[in-house]
Amino acid sequence: GTEAGIPGSLVEELASRFRGQLIRPGDPGYEPAREIWNGMIDRHPALVARCDGDEDVIAAVSFARDNELPLAVRGGGHGVAGHALCDGGVVIDLSEMMAVDVDPEGLTARAQGGCRLGDLDRATQRHGLATPTGVVSATGIAGLTLSGGMGWLRRKYGLSCDNLVSAKVVTADGTLVAADASENKDLFWAIRGGGGNFGVVTSFEYRLHPIGPEVFFCFVFYPADRAGEVLRSCERYLSAAPDQVGPIAVFGRVPEAEEFPAEWHGEPYVALLALSPDSPAEGERALQPLREIAEPICDLSSATTYLEAQAVLNDDYPDGGRYYWKSVNAPELSDELIECLVQHAATAPSRASTIDVWFQGGAMARVGEEETAFANRGAAYLLGIEGNWGDDADSAENVTWVRDTFADLRTYSSGGVYLNFPGFLEEGEQLMREGYGVNYERLSAAKATYDPANLFRLNANIEPKR
Ligand code: FAD
Repeated sequence: GTEAGIPGSLVEELASRFRGQLIRPGDPGYEPAREIWNGMIDRHPALVARCDGDEDVIAAVSFARDNELPLAVRGGGHGVAGHALCDGGVVIDLSEMMAVDVDPEGLTARAQGGCRLGDLDRATQRHGLATPTGVVSATGIAGLTLSGGMGWLRRKYGLSCDNLVSAKVVTADGTLVAADASENKDLFWAIRGGGGNFGVVTSFEYRLHPIGPEVFFCFVFYPADRAGEVLRSCERYLSAAPDQVGPIAVFGRVPEAEEFPAEWHGEPYVALLALSPDSPAEGERALQPLREIAEPICDLSSATTYLEAQAVLNDDYPDGGRYYWKSVNAPELSDELIECLVQHAATAPSRASTIDVWFQGGAMARVGEEETAFANRGAAYLLGIEGNWGDDADSAENVTWVRDTFADLRTYSSGGVYLNFPGFLEEGEQLMREGYGVNYERLSAAKATYDPANLFRLNANIEPKR
């Protein structure tokens, strides 16, 4: 029958050359297979192709292309916009492809496209090594790396995409190609910032750096009315100790948790978070100035393991919660901008929502603007607006808060957004042009080479150049 849009005979033919699982509406595994991190997204694919190896990916790409079906690619399923799913088409699901192979002598690791950050970190930490990833360990390496990848190590070792040594990619014509600095150079350039536009990356090879297992993590909460001093002190601190740490300042409201003094529950805070990659003793010394800017509400800083530090924020982002995010770059933190951050954070309809200031620069800014596809490297700050809530009934007001905050923060921007943070990409091409910046035209040319029919279009999409 054709009840789900794909004739059964076609699926049977695919099944005859597919090693993994093919899941269709009505199958026992179907409902869980269409769940992703963002509970706002409710889509019904006609077929979930849960791949077991590169050959399966080739088969599924060819199947979708030959039958002219919508195609979504799922790595870690943590894309905020929810493009890991589609309605009525094929989902290439890499969640079972999570092997990691570490070469401790060569200081590289090859990780399959379905890995989460935690899978990669656990494997590399066995050798006292790591590559820069993001700050929540359930996030997928695939989406994160393809659009940049910013974590605690960004100022010391660069973005995740800056540490990519090579990748294996199944392109729209169904061939598996290697991309690195000498082979398919254009493709290698394009996938370091160009997102999922160029094919399905079945594995990523990363450069590794010695770190851990023990580190020091700074996690200090100040009253939001001290935000000016806190941000300025952090700025001064970074200009004296340039690359070692990559702090994030988080604006939110104090949770009703026992670590926090009861009189502060619900009050607006600004927190400083940073990881020192050195020994805990050196790290504690180095991070001390960030912990004594003012009288803190609470200081949760401690010596910990790198793996635990990578998971410090995990509980704040439960699977199936409601999420809508945006971001904007800022060249400087003016007093007016700081006031704007304080005001909007204090009036968020949800207590779980935050506005985050990512201090950029360091290693990520030393890579040339056109050296990889990732653009807007020169921006000093990235402002992330995170609408996080739990109940569908509250969606409208939370989405409105994010949009209003975005509109106001934009007035302090000199352009540029981070394409790993947007809500529903509803701004379309304008957003893409801002996100890809000076690299848009070259990306569009690479798109015409590797995916001229725009098979991979459920993403921060780049039109193939005509
Ligand atoms: P998916 O939804 O699986 O994929 C997102 C998109 O990437 C897909 O729609 C597809 O277009 C493409 N894609 C996925 N896999 C492949 C593949 N194998 N080949 C080709 N294309 C593919 N970002 C940061 O930089 N730093 C952070 O610290 C950070 N923290 C985050 C914390 C949370 C809780 C969340 C939800 C996100 C965070 N992000 C962060 C943003 C994150 O990088 C993006 O959401 C990213 O898209 C997640 O990748 P994924 O593979 O999990 O998502």
